Amino acid sequence: MKMLIEGQLTESQSADVIRVSNPATGELVDTVPKGGREDVKRAVDAASEAFKVWSERPAIERSRVLLKIAEVVRADVADLARSLTLEQGKPLGESSSEINSFANSCEYYAGLIGRQRGAHTPFSTGEGFFIVTKRPLGVVGAILPWNFPVSLMGWKVAPGLAAGNTFVVKPASTTPITDIKVAALLAKTGLPAGAVNVVTGPGSVVGEEIIENPKVAKIAFTGETATGKRIMEGAAKSIKRLTLELGGSDPMIVCDDADLELAVEAAAWGRFRNCGQSCTSVKRLFLFDSVADEFVRSFVEKVKTIRVGNGLEKTTHMGPVHTQEQREKVESMVEDAKSRGAKVIVKGGRPMNKGLERGNFLVPTVLGDVDYDAKISREECFGPALPIFVVKDVEEAIQRANDTPFGLGSSVWTKDVEKAYHVAERIEAGTTWVNSPPIARAEVPFGGFKQSGFGRELGIEGLDYYYETKSIQVLEYGKGKKWAFPIN
Ligand code: NDP
Repeated sequence: MKMLIEGQLTESQSADVIRVSNPATGELVDTVPKGGREDVKRAVDAASEAFKVWSERPAIERSRVLLKIAEVVRADVADLARSLTLEQGKPLGESSSEINSFANSCEYYAGLIGRQRGAHTPFSTGEGFFIVTKRPLGVVGAILPWNFPVSLMGWKVAPGLAAGNTFVVKPASTTPITDIKVAALLAKTGLPAGAVNVVTGPGSVVGEEIIENPKVAKIAFTGETATGKRIMEGAAKSIKRLTLELGGSDPMIVCDDADLELAVEAAAWGRFRNCGQSCTSVKRLFLFDSVADEFVRSFVEKVKTIRVGNGLEKTTHMGPVHTQEQREKVESMVEDAKSRGAKVIVKGGRPMNKGLERGNFLVPTVLGDVDYDAKISREECFGPALPIFVVKDVEEAIQRANDTPFGLGSSVWTKDVEKAYHVAERIEAGTTWVNSPPIARAEVPFGGFKQSGFGRELGIEGLDYYYETKSIQVLEYGKGKKWAFPIN
């Protein structure tokens, strides 16, 4: 597979390649060019040229193109989903919903653009008025992770294109293929060549050039908090706009009046979907002590039904961990918790099933009595292991839920609406789901508090992060005399 610059599938300037492997089998899926700084510069130039054309297109045309993008992507959902499963590992059903979620984002912003309203506001002194206009920023660098390579590209590209910007996308080096395939489809939609370029290559080279390139106006990034800090540092040199969606350690609180059957399903969905590799996976589960035993009994039954396997098999519920390195990271967090006295409720570990030996598989682990200073409580655990904590009441749950540097998502389960609001208002997180698993929706703004990042993606708010705001102040005819100099 080649990378995409100015609408052309192209090699990098060096002849080097990156090997993309299937996490379920270890087999080679394909290679992509190992791009360098010169490739990024070419892509940025292409995006700058495309910006001149695209930013001048009326909103109604940008809206039509976005609808067309959604249509062509949906038409290819089966092929794209297979491609995503091969390189990322997630089950085919999850891959299809991810591709559809890319299309949803395009449709949402197609609907929004062209329906925006503004205001004409008189000055408080009555001498005139001001209006506020919005302008696209220019070339945006989208730096993507491997856990949701396609939907997270949509979270950036859909609002960004809607607002009139153009893109240089840098996919994760382990999941570049489906992003290139999606971007290549855009040629059929009326989008100018060069409006969305995809440059493959290491973060330390391609990513760094995007950060440093003076023609890039903004960086939209999803990934590790440490990488986010590096991007902030680099972007400071040219005061680039930033949206940073970083790690999370999301708490789920189950109160004594919760619907336990639904909460058990939500905990399983929230922790084990995408093999636990979601920024808003349930990463810490807080149970009221009066319901803890009953909850844990049902949860264990549920967890034991999860079938781990190759994402291409219809019978698979949970695919492999994305890389060997990630698997070892999760295993070391489980070992650390055990060494601090955690009780093993569901053992998990590497499966012994024939046919899974060469993949990065892990069976779900559930731990109780976890020391709050264990790594699994303090750091982001990006894999199928869940620590459970027992709390006596809402106040203890809130205090412990907030005892983390992260603040991305959170959820609370209760039938008491006052309690739900009380918790939602006090949890330091960008989103609190009430009686719901952690589901992102195109119309709802998404982003973090604290070290989970800043800026918002999705929703009306997501569009704002792709604009400069310009104020035009007008003095009414005859009112200017007051401003004669000198001031007396
Ligand atoms: P990274 O943050 O390293 O990778 C995300 C993206 O950033 C990739 O495209 C990567 O490129 C790129 N990148 C890496 N270094 C730089 C750099 N110096 N400048 C610019 N871009 C760079 O995450 P990892 O893949 O290493 O995952 C590590 C941990 O991060 C996970 O265990 C998890 O805890 C967290 N994570 C959180 C995500 C979330 O959704 N919030 C998503 C993914 C990971 P390349 O692939 O070439 O290295």
